[in-house]
Amino acid sequence: MGMVMIKCPQTGRAIPTGIETDRESFRRLPVFFGHTRCPNCNANHDWFAREAWVDEPSVGRWRRGAGFRA
Ligand SMILES: [Zn+2]
Repeated sequence: MGMVMIKCPQTGRAIPTGIETDRESFRRLPVFFGHTRCPNCNANHDWFAREAWVDEPSVGRWRRGAGFRA
């Protein structure tokens, strides 16, 4: 499992959306969008799945328990 990440449009930094999935499942999802509270600029960002990616623990820097939820 990994964490769906988006890029903050204000700071350009990756932020976790709080949605956990794996790359295969994410790729099979129909187009969707979400709203995520951004810890960098303290605002809500709207995003589309095509702008998001899955940051899996083996390759990413996501740490569980950071407390961010969509
Ligand atoms: Zn932001």
